[in-house]
Amino acid sequence: MIDKENNIFDTVKNYYNDYGFRAKDLKREGKKFIGYVCSFVPLEIITASGSLPFRVRGNIHEPITKGDTLLETIVCPYYRSVFDLSVKGEYDFLSGLVIPHGCDSMVRSFSAWSYGLPFSYFHFVNIPSVCDESSFEFFDAELDAFRKSLGKFTGKAITEEHLRQAIRAYNENRDKVRALYELRKADPPLISGTELTMTLTAGSSLPIEESNDLFDQVLTEVKGRGKSPLKKGPRIFIDGACLDNIELIKLVEELGGNVVADTICNGARDHFPKTDVGGDPIHALAHRYLDKINCPKTYRANRAGTFEGDIANRFGDVGTYAREFRVDGAILYVYKYCDPFGFEVPARKAYYQSLNLPLLHLEDIYSAGTISQLRTRVQAFLEMIGQ
Ligand code: SF4
Repeated sequence: MIDKENNIFDTVKNYYNDYGFRAKDLKREGKKFIGYVCSFVPLEIITASGSLPFRVRGNIHEPITKGDTLLETIVCPYYRSVFDLSVKGEYDFLSGLVIPHGCDSMVRSFSAWSYGLPFSYFHFVNIPSVCDESSFEFFDAELDAFRKSLGKFTGKAITEEHLRQAIRAYNENRDKVRALYELRKADPPLISGTELTMTLTAGSSLPIEESNDLFDQVLTEVKGRGKSPLKKGPRIFIDGACLDNIELIKLVEELGGNVVADTICNGARDHFPKTDVGGDPIHALAHRYLDKINCPKTYRANRAGTFEGDIANRFGDVGTYAREFRVDGAILYVYKYCDPFGFEVPARKAYYQSLNLPLLHLEDIYSAGTISQLRTRVQAFLEMIGQ
């Protein structure tokens, strides 16, 4: 539980550094945690089932060893790290695991997870790769199958009312995240990228009510600063997949940049879209997860008929955030073997060029060792845009 006497960032650091300790406490009290990877797993369904969602993460400081005896090394290194920690027992407090079709690594490795780990429940959520009328018919049915399957496992029939309550709680959470991002609009921002990433990572290890409480306290603390503790510097946008370790962001900030916005999976991509309320909750969730989460894994038809129109259609969120957060430059950070982001690099670069936004493209392998090797390139980029 949150110790309200402490500075809230000490609490955030505890949750971040000792990731999962609160879940272990709650498990001892009889609570059931369901792990998940990727932004495509509808957390509202897990919460509505009476169990608690827990985002499994990797650790860039831990060499990948045991995991590589069970999983092909052409899988992306982020995912291999998450798998490695899991087979080493880091997440043994989980009762189950849900994996969506977020990328080829997730699809092709599902059987390795389900055979290699001791959980009682595994579920694969199939996500359509296109976004049209028939995709929603399919995805509604897929989410309904997940609802029934999880309800059977937990012994609780998940009703529409349970789903509506969970949708409200997550929409509230996303409003709080939005409010945290608003604090980055000041120059210099009131909250650093490092603090924000740690806060969001901490939140993804907690029950939604505790996550909401944590975010409220961070908001109060940061608003109470009045003036920014940071110095002015180039305002940097981070674009890429899941960045659940703070080292890259910390490096940018140590070198004088301020990370003010992103499209990362555990950042704006996941936390900005809200679920519509009022209609069929399963359909509303299908719409939120398939259409509103802008992931390069989803093919969006080229309605414009031109390359320029197509990239503006697919990556328009980048331009919107770049303007909204008055970004000076962007870092496109892609893991080796990440198929959705890797395939998009040329088109994404062209889009940045169309925005006239300086871009540094980094390909990395999810290791603390390589982050330090990026220092010179990041420094040169910041100097170039700071001139
Ligand atoms: S980083 Fe890319 S390849 Fe790896 S899990 Fe995420 S989307 Fe899949």
